[in-house]
Amino acid sequence: MKVFLSSLSSLSFWLPPLIRFICILFSAGLTYFFIGPRAGLSVALAILLFIVIQQLSYLYKLDAWLKHPGSTRLPNGWGAWTPVFSSLYRLRRDDGKNQAELSEWLARFRQAMHLLPDGVVIMDTLLCLEWCNPAAEKHLGIKLEKDQNMRVTNVVRHPDFIQYISTGDYKEPCTLALRERTLIVQIIPFENRRQILVTHDVTEAKQIEMMRRDFIANASHELRTPLTVINGFLEIASTHPELDEVTRMNHLTLMTEQGQRMQHLVDDMLTLTRLESIDYPVRSEQVDIPKLLDQILREAQALSGGKHEISLHIDGPNIHGSMEELRSAFGNLVSNAVRYTPEGGKIDLRWQIVNTADQNKAGLQFIVQDNGIGISPEHISRLTERFYRVDKSRSRETKGTGLGLAIVKHVLLRHHAALNICSQPGKGSTFSAHFPMSAKLAS
Ligand code: ADP
Repeated sequence: MKVFLSSLSSLSFWLPPLIRFICILFSAGLTYFFIGPRAGLSVALAILLFIVIQQLSYLYKLDAWLKHPGSTRLPNGWGAWTPVFSSLYRLRRDDGKNQAELSEWLARFRQAMHLLPDGVVIMDTLLCLEWCNPAAEKHLGIKLEKDQNMRVTNVVRHPDFIQYISTGDYKEPCTLALRERTLIVQIIPFENRRQILVTHDVTEAKQIEMMRRDFIANASHELRTPLTVINGFLEIASTHPELDEVTRMNHLTLMTEQGQRMQHLVDDMLTLTRLESIDYPVRSEQVDIPKLLDQILREAQALSGGKHEISLHIDGPNIHGSMEELRSAFGNLVSNAVRYTPEGGKIDLRWQIVNTADQNKAGLQFIVQDNGIGISPEHISRLTERFYRVDKSRSRETKGTGLGLAIVKHVLLRHHAALNICSQPGKGSTFSAHFPMSAKLAS
């Protein structure tokens, strides 16, 4: 607008009509002088009429252009119209540029709001929904199309939410358990007539916090039992110095066993912590499968003490991965088979390649099959949870820590492999670790 006004006040605007006016006067004067007063007046009138018609035609074109600026072109103009038209042209061009910039900003804002993991709801003073982003729709279970202009308390009918809104005190956020998620919700006054409702999903953080608390509680509980045993024997030793050598040796053996149990537990906890740490990437190396499985077979035979029939079949290539981690995972699966299979049972270890067109099934498998006690179906999905045991006393009897399968799960995850469990109580179990074909070493 400033540009427009400044050009109107410039010389280029006033000069042409002034010259034109002087020319009319001059031509009328000349005619008057050479032909007579009537002719002079007629010439002046004719020129004025011509100018009026021309001005009207420009006004008409300007009017048409203002009504449909996109469809009609402005004439170049003549005289004082030239700066007017060019200023209008410039105004329109700047306006178009501003519009394009504004649309670009709006598109960027919309995209950012779409990608934002936090929910944003814009409401008017009456708490009626004006706009919200997809995260808010997901968190609060609302639909912008359907719920626009509805009062949010009518759409989100959670008593805690309604209470938070009704207090009118929004300095602190409120925590809501909504649609199986935990949300932190806060209202922020915005402009004079609007308010923003922000939702932040803390479900995962809460779960991690709960898992951490459970882990500490479980670990303390696991360590307390052997510690109580050791403390008990130490107390007996200090209060009963008269105890005979055989009893003392017996107590020492039991204390050593409990000490070893604590050692296993701490070792397993440290292994799990390391495996879960993102700062500890897989040390990828060539894994010599025959060498690794032979070693595991010998360890299993030692653990079994000749009470089981253990066989090993290798029919697959070597892979790349972490030898140490795979030894721990495979070792855990095999030692479980030994520990949960009664005397005289059979344990079959297999390493095989699965060649099939189905990409999900193709790969390499380590299978541990036993005909031991088996597991009821309701336990299977929980077996890889830390400290989860089907039968606590049996696990303790066989020196289990309850962390073995959690370690297996993490090692396999780090190798992009998956654990499958099939089991039937009383019949036995099959644990298979499935590796993608990409793990295969080029021979
Ligand atoms: P634990 O140290 O108690 O063996 P794991 O995490 O290795 O802990 O195993 C979790 C539970 O899964 C065990 O307590 C046991 O109940 C069950 N389990 C694991 N392997 C077998 C198996 N081969 N046969 C039967 N039950 C098993």
